[in-house]
Amino acid sequence: MADKKPAGGGGKTGGHPTVHKLYKVSGEKADRLRKSCPKCGSGTFMAQHKDRNSCGKCHYTEFAKK
Ligand SMILES: [Zn+2]
Repeated sequence: MADKKPAGGGGKTGGHPTVHKLYKVSGEKADRLRKSCPKCGSGTFMAQHKDRNSCGKCHYTEFAKK
């Protein structure tokens, strides 16, 4: 009863764009979440805290907005 099969079979049930998306995210998640310091440039990443990011180089702190 759990199986969903098209009665009379008339086509594919494929087409799940969301699934494809989830796979891609898991790989680069860490890198994409890291913010770069606006003062030091894109080469310097900021340390992430609970609700703020701070740069270890120039100590620039950015609070997360909600
Ligand atoms: Zn900085």
